[in-house]
Amino acid sequence: MMASERAVAGLARAEVRALPVYSPDAGECDVDVSENTNLWGTPPAALRAIAEAPVALPSRYPALESEPLREAVLEYLGLADAPGIGIVAGCGSDDVLDAALRAFGVAGDEVAFPAPTFVMIPILARLDGLVPIGVPLTSSYGLDPERLVDRRAKITYLCTPNNPTSTAMSRAAVEYVVDRAAGLVIIDEAYAEFAPETFVSLVTRSERVLVTRTFSKAFGMAGLRVGYGVGGTALVDLVARARGPYKVNVLAERAAVAALRDAPDARGWVLEHARIATANRDRLASELRSLGLPVAPASGNFVFAPTAAAASLARAMSDRGVLVRALDGLTEDVPALRASGGRGLRIGVGPWDAMTRVLGALREVLPCA
Ligand code: PMP
Repeated sequence: MMASERAVAGLARAEVRALPVYSPDAGECDVDVSENTNLWGTPPAALRAIAEAPVALPSRYPALESEPLREAVLEYLGLADAPGIGIVAGCGSDDVLDAALRAFGVAGDEVAFPAPTFVMIPILARLDGLVPIGVPLTSSYGLDPERLVDRRAKITYLCTPNNPTSTAMSRAAVEYVVDRAAGLVIIDEAYAEFAPETFVSLVTRSERVLVTRTFSKAFGMAGLRVGYGVGGTALVDLVARARGPYKVNVLAERAAVAALRDAPDARGWVLEHARIATANRDRLASELRSLGLPVAPASGNFVFAPTAAAASLARAMSDRGVLVRALDGLTEDVPALRASGGRGLRIGVGPWDAMTRVLGALREVLPCA
């Protein structure tokens, strides 16, 4: 680092200086299954909505809160008639999660979550001076609700299906947390469309529950950056204040509303591809198990296998044009992760020809691991 760079770094907050630079797995590849995005693409109705947008649209600011998006989201979630429920939309659900932590956490407060979970949560918490507390998953990758609630954290975060394990939490455990947690409960449902059940109706059970969703996964719009939180209007209004205005751009908003329409080229396209992804996921998991990988029970559009050789396997697969995510530093307090030294592979699910490439590369590299 040059002297001038050191000087400017000295001006920055210690929390920011301590952060690693986010670097998604880069590199040339034929098959990228490292981001859990929709490998079939984007709903045709959303693409059309962008192509047909009025030319003057980008010169204007978006609405402060989009009424068409609010209505479409609540209808999609089956909450159109639920009194007192609203949404807060953001530049991806990352933005909503960030704003929720900022709205409710005072420096020094704890953010408790089952570990391992979505990597951004401890990062966002630290940025706000909050203290991330991971409570290890159980031997069956389950949530330990008593231990989590016993932290009496200001904010409790649950992710189901969980990233990176793809495992779903039981309704009893989630409800235990919702009913007994000391403060705000965030339920991150980024992968809800691939899961056997959703917990979104819990927003009507407690005014302290925020459920977050995204257009980046099943909806195939990761590059447009739209996500949202659902909850009681008092709660979502506070999150919106912490988020700030104009986070969802006009084209993304149009595309999101179009994708939610109950039509075969919109919501129908999304749900049909989520159904295919779910079937391919189960098929991929069983193929991987037959190769000897201990795949966790999967409920998202990706699978997770603990293996100590994750990094070298991912590198060797990348040499064969297939990009998977190697994870390291996951808590070793989870029994399934102890043997792998906290390492594992996360593999996204897509069309079966892509899965054939993944399996072909793995078959070549596994014997060398
Ligand atoms: N939550 C989870 C669990 C995720 O895996 C991701 C993306 N990897 C996000 C939230 C954020 O997604 P986005 O900001 O694209 O909505």
